Amino acid sequence: MLATSTLLLLATLAGYALLCAVSPFGDCRKCRGIGYKLTTDRKGRPKRDKPCRRCKGHGKRLRVGRRLHNHSRAVHHAGTR
Ligand SMILES: [Zn+2]
Repeated sequence: MLATSTLLLLATLAGYALLCAVSPFGDCRKCRGIGYKLTTDRKGRPKRDKPCRRCKGHGKRLRVGRRLHNHSRAVHHAGTR
């Protein structure tokens, strides 16, 4: 039972690491990758509002795993000069 759950956890981690390596950017969670807020005008049609504050309008965010990878690489580089 414990071995099974450990294996599952490792598989999830490996899959996530692969995902971070293949596509380091994910869609912004606040605007779902659109890059700006959506509002409706008085006729009920969707229109774009201000750019998203979280991703500054580009709709992408760096994955947590990729940020960790970049940080550890920076530390390694700073330490091995
Ligand atoms: Zn956003």
